[in-house]
Amino acid sequence: MSSKVSVLGLGAMGTALATKFLENGYQTTLWNRTTEKAASLVERGCRLSATIPDALQASDLILICLIDAQAVKETLSRALQSLAGKTVINLTNGTPDQARQLSELVLTHGGTEYIHGGIMAVPAMIGSSEAVLLYSGGSQENFRRVKKDLSILGTGKFLSEDAGSASLYDLALLSGMYGLFSGFLHATALVRSGEKEATATGFMSLLVPWLSGMIGYLGVMAKQIDEGNYVTQGSNIAMQIVAVENILEASETNGVSADVIHPIKSLMKLALAAGRENEDISALIEHL
Ligand code: NDP
Repeated sequence: MSSKVSVLGLGAMGTALATKFLENGYQTTLWNRTTEKAASLVERGCRLSATIPDALQASDLILICLIDAQAVKETLSRALQSLAGKTVINLTNGTPDQARQLSELVLTHGGTEYIHGGIMAVPAMIGSSEAVLLYSGGSQENFRRVKKDLSILGTGKFLSEDAGSASLYDLALLSGMYGLFSGFLHATALVRSGEKEATATGFMSLLVPWLSGMIGYLGVMAKQIDEGNYVTQGSNIAMQIVAVENILEASETNGVSADVIHPIKSLMKLALAAGRENEDISALIEHL
């Protein structure tokens, strides 16, 4: 366990991370491109580094949380000589390849360890057990050395030694979330377009139980996918495409864009063209 940490990046998330380390008694050193953002944390006891090399030299444990991989690359490239001996935990959202490239950059410049993280939480959740952080890169053995430090931020899950693994699962989970949000937005827009009095909050009493039921069905679909057996459980694609076409028509009539619905119709058409009319919607995975 470390007693010092340097946090690079003081956006909404970086500030939440730094705050938790400070509250847990760490000597917390900060660097941010816009130094003013450090003011309140400095008032509470953090140290502010004027330069990136200074921030890296202040601690052996380095947390990075910037907007994207390019910003991380640019930032580290201005302090490569200070990476030797450092354990770098990069919690910046990115692709698996970006994580692997940053891992190589850190390790070829003498870094002891590069661990990539995917934060499955919003800033207000940081520090609670509901905040799940996915980690990968380096060895499981080395991860154990920093596990206690990282547990301050939430529930940590080490996935694999491949630095890209955490990003893969992070993006996959976000993909599930954006699918859900897309459906919610379209459904709410459709209801509001057809009922003058309808409110989004009022609609929740129907939408939330319906979606909860459908979430329960994901396990059935997952089993079908793993077994490669999509024989319908009662809701075949030939029937479902009719409902999707009706959603598209009603949306057009009501002047609601159906941009988030069109892709699933395209996939259904591909599946039908491949002779899957008697299969479940899980079969669409064969066309992704
Ligand atoms: P913010 O937009 O609040 O902050 C962005 C940070 O990146 C700031 O510190 C900003 O510096 C810095 N930055 C941007 N461009 C550069 C650059 N070229 N060089 C150096 N620094 C740069 O974003 P968040 O803090 O919310 O997000 C940070 C990361 O955390 C992202 O990868 C995000 O996906 C991830 N994340 C965020 C969540 C959230 O709910 N907020 C949830 C889960 C993950 P400056 O202050 O100078 O602009």
